[in-house]
Amino acid sequence: MYDILIIGGGASGLCCGAMLQGKYKIGIVERNFKVGKKLLLTGNGKCNLTNKNLTLDFYHGDLKLLEKNFKNKDGMALMGKLALPIIFDQQGRAYPHSKTSSCVLDALRMALKKNSAEEITDCLCERIYKKGNIFEVHTSKGILKSKAVVMATGGKSYPKTGSDGKGFEILKSMGVKLTDKFYPSLCPLTVKNDKFLKSLKGLRAGAECTAVSGGKVVGRQIGEVQFSAVGEKPSLSGICIFNLSTLYPKYNNFKIILDFCPDFNHQKLVKTLLNIKGARKDFPAEELLSGLVNKRVGQYLLKRLGINNCNCENISYNQIEQIAEILKNCDFEIDGTGDFDMAQVTAGGVLAGQLDENLQVKKISGLFVCGEIININGDCGGYNLEWAWKSGQLVADGALKYLESFNDKENR
Ligand SMILES: Cc1cc2nc3c(=O)[nH]c(=O)nc-3n(C[C@H](O)[C@H](O)[C@H](O)COP(=O)(O)OP(=O)(O)OC[C@H]3O[C@@H](n4cnc5c(N)ncnc54)[C@H](O)[C@@H]3O)c2cc1C
Repeated sequence: MYDILIIGGGASGLCCGAMLQGKYKIGIVERNFKVGKKLLLTGNGKCNLTNKNLTLDFYHGDLKLLEKNFKNKDGMALMGKLALPIIFDQQGRAYPHSKTSSCVLDALRMALKKNSAEEITDCLCERIYKKGNIFEVHTSKGILKSKAVVMATGGKSYPKTGSDGKGFEILKSMGVKLTDKFYPSLCPLTVKNDKFLKSLKGLRAGAECTAVSGGKVVGRQIGEVQFSAVGEKPSLSGICIFNLSTLYPKYNNFKIILDFCPDFNHQKLVKTLLNIKGARKDFPAEELLSGLVNKRVGQYLLKRLGINNCNCENISYNQIEQIAEILKNCDFEIDGTGDFDMAQVTAGGVLAGQLDENLQVKKISGLFVCGEIININGDCGGYNLEWAWKSGQLVADGALKYLESFNDKENR
């Protein structure tokens, strides 16, 4: 009999186990041969573990729950407890000083060892039943019994790391309410009807990216756009697009508008283009944009406008106006996202209204949830791990309180 079984050895589950101080019998059930598979991949192997700029603006989903707990138990507090030295980059992103994610996993596992937590690996949790006040956890290795259970099985994103949505099914079978749908988030956006865009595959370009729905601006990011493909479809990718991908499921007629020259206004661009035209008049039209933007981007923009079989001197004033316009307002009609295989996080999950302040399911005492399984997801920049740490610590506090009162009742 365990005091507490944590289902899922990812960021939030490991954090929860690491913070469960006391003489409790703790087990971490993990379907993979090792814990922390996704954690090792984070931040390109460097682990962007939280951010200096923590505000609700960087989050989506059940924000009320987050608002209540925003000041508590942040990633920095956890790293302090784990004695893990941190550095920040210029954007406020926090990393372990060594810039290797394996150090974060090691620090968590050392804390787990101190708590004598058992890692039960290669063990898939299939179903959970509460019988009286004891949980029966049915796994591929048999039935495990426990006084309390923490579901920390993540969402559906990057299923090759073990989080494939099985946890959602298990909770649903226990009567826990989830969002109707789940969406891939922090992923590429696919572009509709653009026969020239494939030519940019593999290229990166700096741009101001604006998300628009029905003519209204719904989001804006500045950064590097990566031109990529999802299967046969051309797509836009990169951190700024990932952050805007979170908005896609919420809006119809979703467009991304790229401004390749945010430091110029339209008039200044027209003037600059006329100047270049004069200086390069005997050269092919594509040379007009070379130097202002990447040459391939310039070729693409001119192809879209049908200005490509002439020399610079043949470009009319009207066409110069059109070129200035597309440089600042290059629009892409978006018709989908990459799938869960490409998404860093899942939007959707356990509806927060059913949870108490320590993320215990109100109607099933002793059952807790933490991490991405809850309907809260963040932008790129360390915000998702921040939620994993925060929720893991909140659950650890709640589970300790629960076990204390459970044991009190038993001893009476
Ligand atoms: C490539 C990539 C890079 C990322 N980089 C960053 C970053 O730099 N910063 C950041 O903040 N966020 C990043 N994220 C997001 C972040 O990794 C996740 O939000 C976070 O790991 C979620 O933690 P979790 O504990 O909820 O779930 P997970 O980390 O997904 O862990 C869940 C665990 O549960 C196990 N499991 C699932 N179902 C079962 C079952 N039925 N039985 C037993 N075990 C089960 C899984 O195998 C897994 O180990 C990245 C994500 C990806 C995919």
